[in-house]
Amino acid sequence: MQNVVLEDKTIEAYVSDIDDQQRQKIREVAEELTNVRVAHVNSTASGGGVAEIVQSLVPLLNDVGVETDWLVMDATAEFFDVTKAIHNGLQGEQSEFTDDMRETYRPVTVENAEALGETYDVIVLHDPQTLGMAPTLAERFPETAFVWRCHIDLTAAAPAFLEFLQSYLDPIDRAVFTLPEYGESITGVEKVVVHPAIDPFTEKNRPLEELSGEAAEAADPERYPFDTDRPLIVQISRFDPWKDPLGVVDAYRDVTETIPDTQLALVGSRPDDDPEGIVVYREVEEATSDDPDVHLLSDLPDAGINALQRGADVVLQKSLREGFALTVAEALWKETPVVGSNVGGIPLQIEDGANGYLVEPDDIAATADRVTRLLDDERNRQFGERGRETIRERFLLPRLVSDYLTLIADVSRPSVEP
Ligand code: UDP
Repeated sequence: MQNVVLEDKTIEAYVSDIDDQQRQKIREVAEELTNVRVAHVNSTASGGGVAEIVQSLVPLLNDVGVETDWLVMDATAEFFDVTKAIHNGLQGEQSEFTDDMRETYRPVTVENAEALGETYDVIVLHDPQTLGMAPTLAERFPETAFVWRCHIDLTAAAPAFLEFLQSYLDPIDRAVFTLPEYGESITGVEKVVVHPAIDPFTEKNRPLEELSGEAAEAADPERYPFDTDRPLIVQISRFDPWKDPLGVVDAYRDVTETIPDTQLALVGSRPDDDPEGIVVYREVEEATSDDPDVHLLSDLPDAGINALQRGADVVLQKSLREGFALTVAEALWKETPVVGSNVGGIPLQIEDGANGYLVEPDDIAATADRVTRLLDDERNRQFGERGRETIRERFLLPRLVSDYLTLIADVSRPSVEP
């Protein structure tokens, strides 16, 4: 496993986003945990929501006095093919779970668990990729508490894939879900709900005028192939069928019937653990090759994502299934109006008609209609202001730090009591 080294962060920097009660709670709980060592384990150091959260959470847990490492699994391309299929099965694709898949998955997780050289009081395993490490880790470290953080919506999961998860849950002390219903079909483990959050101070989220050097260059609108005088729709998502990039293209085409000079940007990184990405990218490329106003951008630096989320007239998140959708929180924080599908964590963030619009995931006509309204409607601005307030109140990093401290205290209490 790789230990990811991160730059320091300080909780004091977040003072304008934390109320006194929250600050007091963070201080009190962290004081209880000064002897507790924590590791977060996931499958990729970059790309996707999990890496995004862990890279900000880990430095802040260290800053408040809880020694925390971020470890990333070593794995093969075959392993990631299997874990992507598992991800798809858990999101509701009715595919088969074969013995071959099991045989590819298991040894990689066991090897990673055997390679862990340090001892921790609490290990947080993120998503199905790492869950298989639990039995071996529990055998090697009987004193350690194990948390499984599931970022996926399991409500439509295919039974074989749920059984697979269930078979690894014995050593898990707490399973953490984004919404209560995500974990309903999981049994035999104590469950808690924690909403994700965004970090307002990263290059992705801070005001563009605070960026300098390469980040400022990456945020320069001149670098991008758009006409800033014309309307721009942006979706920022991995090239993944569940993010429905082809549906975005259909909705955009509908919009151009009414507002012909509209432009579309589909922005997607290709994370190391997502083998499907390139196939989906090619499909979208082919479907849009005749339209110079559709731009596919990949592997943009965070400052570029920031600039596009701010430069967009509307951010679209047309997912068919979604865990939380950090991209929605990121856009709302920047006061850019969002049209999002009514799935997963999106309705947690968007209140239809108040700070954005919600549409049913397969309703292209409604998606186009709401985007069109926002492109030529005054409410655009009001939505933006309310959206930022929603994120400030509920989805910023200090709240997540506080939730994790409570969770770590709960699971490690036996070891910290005298
Ligand atoms: N992201 C990025 N570059 C891209 C596409 C996505 O940095 O080209 C980031 C995005 O800004 C967000 C995260 O990856 O922070 C995606 O998280 P989300 O919860 O929206 O979706 P997930 O990929 O976890 O399903």
